[in-house]
Amino acid sequence: MTDEYFMLQALKEAKKAYEAGEVPVGAVITMRDKIIARGHNQVERLKDPTAHAEIIAMTSAFNFLGSKYLPDATIYITIEPCLMCAGALYWSKIQKVAYGGFDEKNGYQKYIPPCPSVENLGVAPRPFHPKTIVVSGILKEECTLLMKEFFRERRGG
Ligand SMILES: [Zn+2]
Repeated sequence: MTDEYFMLQALKEAKKAYEAGEVPVGAVITMRDKIIARGHNQVERLKDPTAHAEIIAMTSAFNFLGSKYLPDATIYITIEPCLMCAGALYWSKIQKVAYGGFDEKNGYQKYIPPCPSVENLGVAPRPFHPKTIVVSGILKEECTLLMKEFFRERRGG
């Protein structure tokens, strides 16, 4: 099983959000190459600005495992997580965070200052748990295209 395979599954979740008129972000959580939780953005439906795909998938994973930590799990997210979700992922102690497209407007990296000082070189500041592996750019084009289409449609052009 590859990162691309699971990102395609996250994209399926994102399409569910798209079809429901929600910002199209999807997530799946895996353990030992099996999907244990899924989620897509439901902010409009639940009238809850915290109902992001990652939060919904994590809550489902905690329930499924009966555990408050996910040290053996990977989350695949179609778009770079926001600062809230990055914080929630920190608390989950998740093993790996893999995301597709970047989000210059709302992604967590917007809030991370560049680290120009020599003593910080090689230690990129980030909100995740120190043990969490972070990879980005998986199926970036597909993930980003869905967002672009959604916002183009909304603008009516
Ligand atoms: Zn978020």
